[in-house]
Amino acid sequence: MSLLPVKQLLASETTGHTITVKGWVRTKRESKNAIFIAINDGSTIHNLQAVAEPGQFSEETIRLVTTGACVAVTGTLVESMGSGQKVEVKATDIHIYGPADPDKFPLQPKKHSMEFLREIAHLRPRTNTFAAVLRIRHALAFAVHNYFNDNGFFYLHTPIITASDAEGAGEMFRVTTLDLNKLPRTDEGDIDYKQDFFGRETNLTVSGQLEGELGALALSKIYTFGPTFRAENSNTTRHLAEFWMIEPEMAFYELEDNMNLAEDFVKYVIGYALTHCADDLAFLENRLIDEEKSKPQAERSPMPLLEKLSFVLNNNFQRLTYTEAIDILLQSKPHKEKKFQYPVGWGIDLQSEHERFLVEKHFKKPVILTNYPREIKSFYMKQDDVDESAPGPTVRAMDVLFPGIGEIIGGSQREDNYEKLLARVEEVGIDPASIWWFLETRQFGSAPHSGFGLGFERLVLFVTGMGNIRDVIPFPRTPKSAEF
Ligand code: ATP
Ligand code: MN
Repeated sequence: MSLLPVKQLLASETTGHTITVKGWVRTKRESKNAIFIAINDGSTIHNLQAVAEPGQFSEETIRLVTTGACVAVTGTLVESMGSGQKVEVKATDIHIYGPADPDKFPLQPKKHSMEFLREIAHLRPRTNTFAAVLRIRHALAFAVHNYFNDNGFFYLHTPIITASDAEGAGEMFRVTTLDLNKLPRTDEGDIDYKQDFFGRETNLTVSGQLEGELGALALSKIYTFGPTFRAENSNTTRHLAEFWMIEPEMAFYELEDNMNLAEDFVKYVIGYALTHCADDLAFLENRLIDEEKSKPQAERSPMPLLEKLSFVLNNNFQRLTYTEAIDILLQSKPHKEKKFQYPVGWGIDLQSEHERFLVEKHFKKPVILTNYPREIKSFYMKQDDVDESAPGPTVRAMDVLFPGIGEIIGGSQREDNYEKLLARVEEVGIDPASIWWFLETRQFGSAPHSGFGLGFERLVLFVTGMGNIRDVIPFPRTPKSAEF
């Protein structure tokens, strides 16, 4: 007896030998002469069908074979008479590892809403949709490492606990071992963090970038790929409180090189999914087509999933400056007809509705926007030389915008001039002493360098065609929700 995953069994070139399949029952169908059991072990979207003759098994065994039960079926692998599969197993032995009471098991072979499935996140990986998403998520993560490894990048592990308050102070989760009921106080009455575990205030990281830069200024090309935390109270379909971010950082790269890398990288990982996850993507494409039947024509996606992914691979991303984008938005129909919820004008932080207009309506392809106003971007971005066409100072930022998602990547060339960086740090009210180590890299062997951050779940969202970011991570963390 050999134990092979269903994926391999279904691809068997020969039949007639004895095999054992272990997995969870998806469906049981009984006819007069045979019982058909569809078994899935998560290795593939497809099930292996076991056929059992009723007389050969005790009634008790057959009774316990229900949707959700975990079983091991041994038997002969034979060519399948039915359509839909090449082979099936003619059962000689059925072992029940774990029954699943059909009156209580919440996953029945019918459509469940995504909202309901979120409430049973401990079981939802056993649905076809989630298992497909999780397999694609795995493939994409693997592709990320492949890409960087093949291109001479080193995987740098940046800290999850940080003491730097340089970024997103209000959005950070505090890390402490202090007793919240008995907080130690200083003579002035403030909380005495000297008595805390690290002897200072610490938080969960919102980005590995600052430390990533330190790595790039020694190893030339690094990337991080780790958990990232943001306590922003944004209940959207694109934000999680805990997500995974990929952040490459490269010495000697200018903005243009940064854009080229971002585009090449994203195309590579999407291409990897297309070649390695064809079955799962086909399943999700059909699911989407099904789901969209109930939507009005205008809300349906312009392309089926696979076509959309190929389209991204085969077209250059549209590159333009923020200033040019604002001009387009000012000339646009939704602006003139006051259809945008948020006002448009040079200096605004682009809202999702603006980004999506540019991508989905105007250019109809992914867009890279560059040279944003300095005031709406981070202190570490490289300041542009004065640009006469822009109404105010700009920085060498780049955001990659995707259809259906909006911003998927945010990046920039970094300010490598010590004086300019220090001035900016002080201007935005950061205590230079708190990031002395970051500033020092501009005093010792500074180099032009660039990098970006890709939200991994936004990538998975795009590739799977799912509608909500909570459904592309196994156990989502969002405001008021951290079960499982
Ligand atoms: P947004 O404007 O969409 O909130 P951001 O500008 O705050 O994003 P960055 O700080 O530039 O995001 O982070 C880089 C990338 O990380 C983003 O392009 C996005 O893909 C991803 N990202 C940011 N915040 C979240 C979040 N809360 N949940 C999931 N992904 C996120
Ligand atoms: Mn951003």
